[in-house]
Amino acid sequence: MMEAALFVAWFEEAARLVRADRDRLTRLDAAIGDADHGTNLDRGLTEVLKALADTAIESEAQVLATAGATLIRRVGGASGPLYGSLFRQMGKALETPVTLAGFAAAFEEGVVAVERLGKAALGDKTMVDALAPASRALALAVRDGVGVREALDQAARAAADGSKATIPMQARKGRASYLGERSIGHEDPGAASSALFMAALATVAG
Ligand code: ADP
Ligand code: MG
Repeated sequence: MMEAALFVAWFEEAARLVRADRDRLTRLDAAIGDADHGTNLDRGLTEVLKALADTAIESEAQVLATAGATLIRRVGGASGPLYGSLFRQMGKALETPVTLAGFAAAFEEGVVAVERLGKAALGDKTMVDALAPASRALALAVRDGVGVREALDQAARAAADGSKATIPMQARKGRASYLGERSIGHEDPGAASSALFMAALATVAG
């Protein structure tokens, strides 16, 4: 399904989408956080691309490990370690050659790592509300024998829908939770950026 070069392309496309939506992500974070999510992630992904360019890439797992470690090291704020854990755990779990089923299983392990680190569950108004539905969509696609392109489209749609579904939620984790009921009515910035990661994947591997 995916080779190492395609994983690099995933981060390149994600970096492009985050750059294009940087101000929107930062506006979302301004409403319920500290207005740094777009700049945090834009800077982090720029560092990821630099790190990938400086590394002799030998495997898919190495791309994910490099990206994860860079995000943990370089992104201030909650989202760096969370996204870093997602990709690091995926890298550890991924078996080669990469099939859709193997990718879905590794992605699921990555999402579980995010949930553990953030102590967040579905409905807490975090990136988990986009990532977990995307993971579920991938698992269903595997179960139903759906092709890669359709599976990744479904995952991207599930993440986008999941992100929109955070609007009426009250935040229970992260900075936005300090606002209590005032967090209601705004889309979670981390869920929005997770939807961009899934959209990027559908674009490059679909
Ligand atoms: P910070 O909140 O430290 O400024 P960012 O603005 O970069 O970090 O990222 C904020 C996003 O991180 C939130 O919108 C949310 O999706 C995610 N997030 C924050 N805390 C948690 C948590 N405990 N579990 C899961 N996701 C979280
Ligand atoms: Mg922030």
